[in-house]
Amino acid sequence: MRRALSALFAVFLVAGGCSSSGQPSSPSAVTQPPAPAATPRVLMVTTTAGFRHDSIPTARQVMATLAASTRAFSVTATEDLSTLGAENLRGYDVVMFALTSGELPLAASQKSALVDFVSSGHGFIGVHSATDTLYEWPDYGRLVGAYFKEHPWTQQGTVVVEDASHPANAGSGDRFSLLEEFYTFQDNPRGRVQVLLRLDAASVGAAGDYPLAWAQSFGAGRTYYNALGHFPSTWMDPRFQRQLAGAIAWTASR
Ligand SMILES: [Zn+2]
Repeated sequence: MRRALSALFAVFLVAGGCSSSGQPSSPSAVTQPPAPAATPRVLMVTTTAGFRHDSIPTARQVMATLAASTRAFSVTATEDLSTLGAENLRGYDVVMFALTSGELPLAASQKSALVDFVSSGHGFIGVHSATDTLYEWPDYGRLVGAYFKEHPWTQQGTVVVEDASHPANAGSGDRFSLLEEFYTFQDNPRGRVQVLLRLDAASVGAAGDYPLAWAQSFGAGRTYYNALGHFPSTWMDPRFQRQLAGAIAWTASR
């Protein structure tokens, strides 16, 4: 997938503000051309067993539009948990849990299929409430990196970019500001993951270390988590879209 990664950046260089064309039109208007065979195939799961975010339709639309406009990946969005079986996962390079929540009813065989999928060299991406999901399955906690604690700040805040050279931070600059519901976690994952984004605590009148996105190896595979994504406006934000596209390329690499 290294070639796909290069292709992704070439697309960004050529297309520049391509994501301005990533504006969802209408849910029925999605016609995704088949991506080139070497591009990562993403299974996007938005199933909820707890809180359900209003941003889910926008998230699905944005990822489909981003796939179509960049042709850097293909995406299949689903809420059918039966897709998380070993046989079906053979058709994908990355599983993305986007805005999932609660104790999703996964069979033991599906749980081991997902762990085997990632540890054997594929990718996992969690977005926003993916950390508010499957608290009772410790292996999932290792995949996603931490569990949600609370969201003390829903406001404009500044996000600091750590390691601007990481593919998932491409085009994010050294800091950026957005309206978001900023999460804290039950424990700080710094030390067991590579933190890629953190909250500028002073920007919300707080103090302390609050990681917001991170990456880690998982066996022969890779996982990435981004805590942003509460509001539809975040999904529409080209900076967030670039982070997710970069994360897809990175987690699909080995
Ligand atoms: Zn939220």
